[in-house]
Amino acid sequence: MNIQCPNCETIFDLPEQVSSNKKYKCSVCNHIWIEKTYEHKALSPNGSEKSDLNKIIILNITIFLLVIIVFVFFRNYLEDIDSNWKSLYLFFDMLIPIQ
Ligand SMILES: [Zn+2]
Repeated sequence: MNIQCPNCETIFDLPEQVSSNKKYKCSVCNHIWIEKTYEHKALSPNGSEKSDLNKIIILNITIFLLVIIVFVFFRNYLEDIDSNWKSLYLFFDMLIPIQ
């Protein structure tokens, strides 16, 4: 683990530190500073971001499927409301020849 003095920019090669926010004193310029280790902190937000993204994707797929189901089940009802729906359904019938 390399620690750099923020004052004189000397790099010290230290054994691996487990604890974060450790206090260091530079042997060259006697500057004292607190080193913050971001390694553990940087990993956890990335992991939560990934799971959030997965949740959003799953939610979008669910909403998309629900909309499709609504459009299929309420076909007769929607066709009665507007003739535009009818032409829309006819278009999809051409794409997927079920009947
Ligand atoms: Zn220094």
